[in-house]
Amino acid sequence: MNQPEALVSTDISSCRDDFPALHQEVNGHPLAFLDSAASAQQPNTVIDAVARYQRHDHANVHRGVHTLSHRATELYEGARDKLCNFVNATSRAEMVLTSGTTEAINLVAQSFCRPTLKPGDQVLITWLEHHSNIVPWQLVCEQTGADLIVAPIDDNGDIVLSELLGLMTTRVKMLGIGHVSNALGTVNPLHEIIAAAKSIGIPVLVDGAQGVPHMQVDVQELGCDFYAFSGHKMFGPTGAGVLWGREALLESMPPYKGGGDMILEVSFENTVFNELPYKFEAGTPNISGIIGLGAAVDYLQSVGMQNIAEHEKNLHSYMVDKLKSVSGLRLIGTARKQASVQSFMLNDIHPHDLGTILDHQGVAVRTGHHCAMPVMQRFGLPGTARASLGLYNNTDDIDQLIDALEKARQVFA
Ligand code: PMP
Repeated sequence: MNQPEALVSTDISSCRDDFPALHQEVNGHPLAFLDSAASAQQPNTVIDAVARYQRHDHANVHRGVHTLSHRATELYEGARDKLCNFVNATSRAEMVLTSGTTEAINLVAQSFCRPTLKPGDQVLITWLEHHSNIVPWQLVCEQTGADLIVAPIDDNGDIVLSELLGLMTTRVKMLGIGHVSNALGTVNPLHEIIAAAKSIGIPVLVDGAQGVPHMQVDVQELGCDFYAFSGHKMFGPTGAGVLWGREALLESMPPYKGGGDMILEVSFENTVFNELPYKFEAGTPNISGIIGLGAAVDYLQSVGMQNIAEHEKNLHSYMVDKLKSVSGLRLIGTARKQASVQSFMLNDIHPHDLGTILDHQGVAVRTGHHCAMPVMQRFGLPGTARASLGLYNNTDDIDQLIDALEKARQVFA
């Protein structure tokens, strides 16, 4: 078939071979996996790194004097180094390993905000956020008497910048904002937003769950204070993720959870906490998951974030053009800048019914509210169907989606 020039870069097109789960039939059709925004597939290198660790090196980290424990610790801490390099952290102290974005945001809400927020203070978010970047702030506002305020979005799914900037006052003690919307694909103009917030001293947390798999992220260059992300969106294992935070802020925060590994000394009278980042890593971590995440970083860097971003940009516009040609299809989310995600409705077919028909034809899309109910409310919808791209997708996947949509249209005609 004819593919646009930029999509046949040998590097990227051969990446598909690295992902065993993509090479199967579903319901008698080749799998067209268009649900990477929910959880991306894993390359052989990640699967192998986890299996190798489980087979040969498994032991608890930081604790043992024996060889396996040393090996496990080296692999685990080696992954931390890779993650530092991946987002350009200035030191390992800034790289807190978590179970994912959700835990990272809860950590900041409870350890950074809860001790200092008081009635009259505000936490600022936007209508675009995933529930993980709403509910933790709601909880801490309830606990402290602070108010949650929300900047609106327009009919395209762009944040109304003037309104967001207008809400930034000295009463705001935290801005929580997504890098890329998981429901609409909107890429937020973070540089401008963060600069405005910082100019009046508002700390900024970026929910980067949908940012890191698709573009080069440099936390120093962004200028935010916290950046959270999840391994399973970036071709790593589930249950492993990151909170990057500025060292001075992390230093000032109390521990989030108590337990083993986060202490230097414990007595019944007093506990001395461990140094950063271990102060925030109580209990046995997801060792194999973090090792797999390190391998995912290696993989992404070997393909090249610039290549990935370019490939996905081309593929996204190919997908949008094709979707527009389907009669009765309405795009939900047409922001100025989008990455890798497209939500849509087909006539008045319920998204779940549509998703089921697509699955019968081997096409995996996500349907529902995408853990972003306020976005759905903003568009007056119970949910949408959402196709999302990863570096391994190609125009064949999109063509298969379009054919399946045409069939669905006939079924429901
Ligand atoms: N934020 C965004 C934008 C997301 O897409 C997701 C996952 N759908 C999350 C947060 C939560 O990630 P996790 O479940 O891995 O903690």
